[in-house]
Amino acid sequence: VFLVIDGIDGAGKSTQVGRLADLVRLAGRTVLQSREPTDGPWGRKIRESAISGRMSPEQERHAFLQDRREHVLTRITPALRRGDVVIVDRYFYSTVAYQGLRGGDTEHLLEQMLAEFPIPDLTLFFDLPVPVALTRISENRGDTPNEFEAKEALTKIRSSFQQMASVCPEVCTIDCSGTADDVTRLIAKALLESQVF
Ligand code: C5P
Repeated sequence: VFLVIDGIDGAGKSTQVGRLADLVRLAGRTVLQSREPTDGPWGRKIRESAISGRMSPEQERHAFLQDRREHVLTRITPALRRGDVVIVDRYFYSTVAYQGLRGGDTEHLLEQMLAEFPIPDLTLFFDLPVPVALTRISENRGDTPNEFEAKEALTKIRSSFQQMASVCPEVCTIDCSGTADDVTRLIAKALLESQVF
């Protein structure tokens, strides 16, 4: 079973990915928990560039694609073949939303992703109003929002996720404006209703 959590910044993805993995393990399944950008060479390059100066949009898109190719080939596909449950924090939807914003054609990017990469059994899109997301970003991290976390950009990213949710049948949108426990309950409900297990 292949599960993905994706969506705008400030929605609390990291906390919930951990809780989801615990929930699945409690049900007796082996879990591969991972994230994109990965901790592999391409992923590290992407993370470093976020600190030391961004790559050009083309270089960045290329790096994300290479990182995902390696991730799928060396980790995701083997784990799925073993029958494990794979849980990934961010996947190709983020590439469409974020890199699409940097001059890419979002519709074309999504088509390209759907054609090349395995489609999850269930994708949870974490959604919340942009002003709430911005408040959480500055409260939680105490840092200055990056380029993508500024209001206008976040608004565009949110609508890109909403657009994908309307055309991708594997996507279920989770309202993240409540407490962390509220969100965990919504995730458990979505899992039950999706019947992926
Ligand atoms: O997953 P996480 O929230 O740690 O991502 C860190 C940052 O990387 C986010 O603030 C997001 O704006 C950015 N990002 C990006 N392109 C992606 C995925 C994430 O620019 N494909």
